[in-house]
Amino acid sequence: MLVQRLKAIQDDYGYLPDAELHALAKETKTPLYRIQEVVSFFPHFRAEWNKPPRVLVQVCRDMSCHLKGAKALTEQLKKVDGAVVEGVSCLGRCDRPVATCISRHGDDHFHDHIYAGREPRDVERIVREIVSGQTPVADLDANWSIDRTDWEIDPYSKNEFEPYDAVRQFLKAHPTPIPPPSNDDDAEKYTEANHPWLKKLQASGLVGMGGAGMPAFLKWGGVWKASPTDGSNEKYIVINGDESEPATFKDREILLHLPHIVVEGVILAGLMANATHGYIYIRHEYEEQIEAVRAEILRAESLGACGKNIFGTTRSYPVEVFVSPGGYICGEQSALIEAMEDRRAQPRNKPPELLTNGLRDRPTVVNNVETIAWAPAIMLRGPKWYSQEWRPGFRGRRLFSVCGDLNQPGVHEVPNGITLGELIDKCGGMKDGKPLKAVALSGPSGGLIPARVPLADGFDKRFAKALERFDTDLAKRVEDLKKKEKDNDQLPKLLSDAKDRSDKDKGKFEKLVKGILVDGKYFDARKLPLDKGSLGMLAGLGGVDFMLGAGMAVYAEPCDILDQAVRFTEFFRNESCGKCVPCRIGSQKLAEIGSELIAKRDRKESISLDLVKGDVLELNRTLGVTSICGLGQVAGSPLATALVYFADEIAGKAKG
Ligand code: SF4
Repeated sequence: MLVQRLKAIQDDYGYLPDAELHALAKETKTPLYRIQEVVSFFPHFRAEWNKPPRVLVQVCRDMSCHLKGAKALTEQLKKVDGAVVEGVSCLGRCDRPVATCISRHGDDHFHDHIYAGREPRDVERIVREIVSGQTPVADLDANWSIDRTDWEIDPYSKNEFEPYDAVRQFLKAHPTPIPPPSNDDDAEKYTEANHPWLKKLQASGLVGMGGAGMPAFLKWGGVWKASPTDGSNEKYIVINGDESEPATFKDREILLHLPHIVVEGVILAGLMANATHGYIYIRHEYEEQIEAVRAEILRAESLGACGKNIFGTTRSYPVEVFVSPGGYICGEQSALIEAMEDRRAQPRNKPPELLTNGLRDRPTVVNNVETIAWAPAIMLRGPKWYSQEWRPGFRGRRLFSVCGDLNQPGVHEVPNGITLGELIDKCGGMKDGKPLKAVALSGPSGGLIPARVPLADGFDKRFAKALERFDTDLAKRVEDLKKKEKDNDQLPKLLSDAKDRSDKDKGKFEKLVKGILVDGKYFDARKLPLDKGSLGMLAGLGGVDFMLGAGMAVYAEPCDILDQAVRFTEFFRNESCGKCVPCRIGSQKLAEIGSELIAKRDRKESISLDLVKGDVLELNRTLGVTSICGLGQVAGSPLATALVYFADEIAGKAKG
């Protein structure tokens, strides 16, 4: 694979010498322009013309690092003779800002040492030592302790099971592949007869933890049923461990400390979907994690749990690590597949979907690390275990990474529905006891939500209408059931179940809104339940809709919101892959508007905020509907939310 070979050359030299690229082109019979095309896309790759200096210091400039003073640190380090200092996108150590990545080239070279969570003068000392030829020990994730005592995701933590018991149990029941159903079978129903293990997965309610929240059984089942169109029997499982969204670093901990459940999850998915090869795609900044997963794959092979003839059966399924050349866009699943196919990581237009035409145009599951890591526990403990109400009214569990103005930023496994305030308390509360000012519930993607969320115009009417909708939807459902099930003896029960469900949902919604509403005037962000379904129910009631991701950042008073929002916007501008015009041009335009706002504010010039807001909201809408992938679709939200929610502050500061 070209990308992996380029990565190996870069690891050896610290850049990609022309002679090595020519040799690679000759050896692989690849035109040089194809290789250059890939090299020029990924910022991690440095060609000869862009050869790195002897000491290169890259300072993370995103979210919590920006908040903790990355700009000032960059300026401070620039004064050190012998080092070249530049900014870099999120290094995935948001719980230990400010993170720096330092490389030294030459005879005493080393590459990509990460130093994180240190005071500026300590970083300056490190840089001076590196320039003078010393090699201070890098800050390892393994030495950073994250409390996992209340985590449930690892079924092996209490020594109740033998290693790879879930794989063993599956193969005991199904030593040969479960044949896919005939085309007539219902696409979404799994039974004891057709696939008892997919039935379990469906019953567990496990959904993707990477953002979109698609039920896991739909992907695994989709690939199980799909046939490659090239006549081969090849199908793949690809695990997305790219995790490059600022504030998101939960998979970093799973990959490092619990690689056995990731590897077992990949094997289970492969066996259940009749896949032929599993890949774990990990961002290159996670070196310890890459080593941990590779070591675990070797252990699994030595135990007979993967590779050839798993546990003595005829089934074979190799698993390997693919080291990502980096870039936020590689987290987009089709862009990731493009990178694996040695192309520029630009998202694909869909259809076709990856489930039928993924890696090498064959059926492919792409799952997030955490999603796959829940699979062994679900298979060993049963779907009801996972889908129980770990918290009244909410099913299932998940992980969040949390950073920003907190006493103890970190990663927590929590029941779905935990409130933002409770999660903040788990992180030791707001730093120095300061009040919460804003939260980014989905890294930069969901924009900035204020601690007091203003209600949408005409809130009372909207709320009443939303409640009414449950009744009208129920009436429709009753009509449908009466038509479709008119000959079914169970019709009365079906009708009463539908009414019970509707009443329950309506009650939940009412309780949810009343629980977060304060004095009928605003929503209290601390009371927001961190649950996708619940936040979705609030659509249209809170001015701007909420978006929930796996990583969040919290900001205390008196954080400069405009400055944060502009930094978020610049992140999207920098990471845009450039494939579609609205995102490529629009994200640059947004960044320019943001910088100009800051400049005017700092010069105490007056700003026509309504005009700027109008432009930004229009751009935001345009990008939302015209961009191919999620990056462009959310690129406007940081500035838009800042201007909607914090307009008074921005205007006030502008007027001085
Ligand atoms: Fe690339 Fe942006 Fe288009 Fe996504 S929206 S494909 S990042 S240009």
